[in-house]
Amino acid sequence: MNQQNSPNTDPTATLSGQAVTTAPTEVPDAPMRQDPAHTEHPHAKTITEDALGGKTMINIEDLSFSYDNGKTNTLQNITLNIPEKQVTAFIGPSGCGKSTLIRCLNRMNDLVETSCITNGKIKIMGQDINARDVSPIELRKQVGMVFQKYNPFPKSIYDNVAYGLRIQGIKKKSALDEAVERSLHGAALWDEVKDRLKDSALGLSGGQQQRLCIARTIAVQPKIILMDEPCSALDPIATAKVEELMLELRKEFTIVIVTHSMQQASRISDRTAFFYLGELIEYGSTTHIFTNPTAKQTEDYISGRFG
Ligand code: ADP
Repeated sequence: MNQQNSPNTDPTATLSGQAVTTAPTEVPDAPMRQDPAHTEHPHAKTITEDALGGKTMINIEDLSFSYDNGKTNTLQNITLNIPEKQVTAFIGPSGCGKSTLIRCLNRMNDLVETSCITNGKIKIMGQDINARDVSPIELRKQVGMVFQKYNPFPKSIYDNVAYGLRIQGIKKKSALDEAVERSLHGAALWDEVKDRLKDSALGLSGGQQQRLCIARTIAVQPKIILMDEPCSALDPIATAKVEELMLELRKEFTIVIVTHSMQQASRISDRTAFFYLGELIEYGSTTHIFTNPTAKQTEDYISGRFG
């Protein structure tokens, strides 16, 4: 693929060492509803999109995924477009495939030897992330991840944030200092740690450790941040800080979050996708999903009738 001369090309966004377009597709501005009867695939369900607009950052096209070499599908014919610089929440009962799908987005599932995509594609910034010429390492520079259990390295606060940059070969102290400060500001942690950057990260509170992990993620300036239940190990005050932070971060990053908490999804996300038994049941604006869901299963779930 060579899009070096395209006007939409962002030379900083590379999955395979080549520049890729940042905005290949528009999320429709006009309200759109796909009736299940009119969708192309028998498994495709209600997809509602609305006037939130935004350019598509991630296209998931009819994706099926298996953990057992294709014998059974854990994800079944998932189609959704995730817009840039918004927060998109994945919700649904435990075991419905939310984490599996989010881990497909940075190819974390590659680590499971028997896993495979059995159908469909995922495109990020227009590029098929499972194409031969895409390196998972390059991909993960663009698609960072924050995990449920905060996992700082047993190093200083400074070294945690500088870690990814040093791996990229940045050695100059002034460049590292600048990036560490910028990232800690970006993660709303600078004021709390600026006087103890050389102290161990493990001495921070849980909430601070999670924000440090966010600082470490944004230090390498990804386009997308995946968050797999980032607040489930945090107390309500630390949760509120991380939620507030997400609303700031979406000005610069595309955020996809898996959450068990419907309150959290409704507080912080622009869009919500509801999954059940490996299928996407409904996707639309968070307001739509929580106030006027189209599918009965969505309504049953958000009203607490199951899950
Ligand atoms: P959720 O995030 O919605 O709770 P998961 O994506 O974690 O759901 O799990 C979906 C299904 O995939 C579950 O049945 C789970 O047991 C299975 N699963 C998850 N991870 C693996 C794995 N590494 N190997 C095999 N099966 C897995």
